Amino acid sequence: MQPLHSRTITASRARTTPLVNSTSTPLSVLQEVFGYAAFRDAQAEIIEHVVGGGDALVLMPTGGGKSLCYQVPAIVRHRAERGVAVVVSPLIALMHDQVGALEEAGVHAAFLNSTLTFEETQKIEREMMSGRLVLLYAAPERVTTPRFLAQLDSLQERGLLSLFAIDEAHCVSQWGHDFREDYLALNVLHERYAGVPRIALTATADDLTRADIIERLQLQSARIFISSFDRPNIRYSIVEKDNARSQLLRFLQDEHEGDAGIVYCQSRKKVEETADWLTSEGIAALPYHAGLDADVRKKHQDRFLREEGLVMVATIAFGMGIDKPDVRFVAHLDLPKNIESYYQETGRAGRDGLPADAWMAYGLSDVVNQRRMIDESPAGEEFKRGQRAKLDALLALAEAHDCRRVRLLGYFGEHSTPCGNCDNCLNPPATWDATEAARKALSCIYRFHQNGGQRFGAGHLIDVLRGKVTDKVSQYRHERLSTFGIGADVSEQQWRAVLRQLIALGHVRTEGEYNTLELTSTARFVLRGEVDMLLRQPIETPRRSRAGRMTRGAAAKDKAPPVPLDAGGAERFAALKAWRAEVAREHNLPAYVVFHDATLAEMARERPGSLDALAQISGVGAKKLEAYGREILRVLEPIGG
Ligand code: ADP
Ligand code: ZN
Repeated sequence: MQPLHSRTITASRARTTPLVNSTSTPLSVLQEVFGYAAFRDAQAEIIEHVVGGGDALVLMPTGGGKSLCYQVPAIVRHRAERGVAVVVSPLIALMHDQVGALEEAGVHAAFLNSTLTFEETQKIEREMMSGRLVLLYAAPERVTTPRFLAQLDSLQERGLLSLFAIDEAHCVSQWGHDFREDYLALNVLHERYAGVPRIALTATADDLTRADIIERLQLQSARIFISSFDRPNIRYSIVEKDNARSQLLRFLQDEHEGDAGIVYCQSRKKVEETADWLTSEGIAALPYHAGLDADVRKKHQDRFLREEGLVMVATIAFGMGIDKPDVRFVAHLDLPKNIESYYQETGRAGRDGLPADAWMAYGLSDVVNQRRMIDESPAGEEFKRGQRAKLDALLALAEAHDCRRVRLLGYFGEHSTPCGNCDNCLNPPATWDATEAARKALSCIYRFHQNGGQRFGAGHLIDVLRGKVTDKVSQYRHERLSTFGIGADVSEQQWRAVLRQLIALGHVRTEGEYNTLELTSTARFVLRGEVDMLLRQPIETPRRSRAGRMTRGAAAKDKAPPVPLDAGGAERFAALKAWRAEVAREHNLPAYVVFHDATLAEMARERPGSLDALAQISGVGAKKLEAYGREILRVLEPIGG
């Protein structure tokens, strides 16, 4: 039933691919080696192109499945006696696990970096030079050394250089915050090995970065593959900050008990305090920021990758290249600086495609801080204008009362319809007309100023508007102002939202240590009633029922299986996890490298009774079947249900 289409593909492959003797097709490699049934989205097309010798630039969101886009071509080409694929990757700390995962799947892979001894390095170089190695991972600074290039020359002469993969390709661009000088030298690959296909991959979507990658890596003739940047399994929620800590705790306890996740904070101090506090609340949490010693950082990162259910509290120093698939949530306690950062950081959740949360608490102080950071930075005025515009886009997202995803994707130039999986879609917020309230707030700030030239902060302003007689009100005799009590009908929370908007829109500015409020020149438009303001009605987030979780009884503290399981299934899942933990420990690898949770859960549910049946489970490739099949059947067998 596939004559026309497949014939076209075969014909074009025959033209570009002299792989006639090979019986390995990309699909057969996917099924045999990785145990997956089918390619996702653009994977098949990308892989076909690279196997055929073409260059490619792949823009795909985190978790989209970029690794297979070069791993499968590397295997197919290696089986056709094309030798070694060189993977350039910026993070030596993660190479070990990536290589471990490939070896687990029966693919001969290795990495070269500074953590190896001389003997180890020599051994790997021998494997590489013989062409036996399928994939070699190396950092850019290693790849561009004269010694390494000489080795590549020799491979090239013997036709044993199968392809180059350049991972995290946005590191070549000075626009992003991940810029790495060493990436610039990678243009040598094109100049020196013009006939070897190159595939560059990144999850950074914007036009400037893309243009930079093409130019600096000389990928002008590469085919560009742009995937949708939607991450449908991530649920976006942005809550108004009330008491951020207890809001976070509630989010973690109600929805992510025992889950692994990341909590982003802006400052090192806040990272440390938050990690300590979470620990004191009985949640296993570790801090990570650039101020910690390198070995502490490494230890914490390793533990996060290897252990289950750890919460990493971190600054943005943490995250790039973290390919842990089962990060179930990313929480922001502080506002990131723009939508690009927000999307990149939240994108670290749910790479395995299972449901995950992106949760952020945001409030007036965030708006004030971010604005001030831009104002006080030594950058030029034009740059600051750009930064402010980006911040405004993020603030608009935070204040939005319609679908968050439509806005996010729209920001990246993608059109979509309401998603049904964000807080606003699930719980459409009521809105209220704040035009009048905004005018009252501005006139009150104006009155302060008239009445003795003093400036005050948001708290006092709200007290005056609501007609609260505080010490400060009495001290300054503000109960005599015409604006005293004119906003008693508006709640304190609503007033905060009004102020957030006014600051976000630039009608009010904050000043000095106490963040006192001051009108800007555009405030007059609001005062004249020329600016309409529709705000989301603050809602008490309903506490989600914990009843469902409690039925798991004693197991309630454990991480929930990714698919619903009956009692017997849950027991099998737990037994499989215990078995996996032992294997992972023996092999010194994170558990997910052995099998993903989703794979174990499917085993627990399906209860395969034979090796053939086990082979049908997604994620069970030939090598793992051979290595672990019998043990798994033994683990499953005695548990009925
Ligand atoms: P990226 O590098 O784009 O962030 P990965 O390559 O780490 O994403 O892939 C994300 C997850 O999806 C991995 O766990 C991978 O095993 C899985 N995956 C990728 N492609 C497929 C596929 N075709 N079928 C099933 N799972 C896949
Ligand atoms: Zn939505």
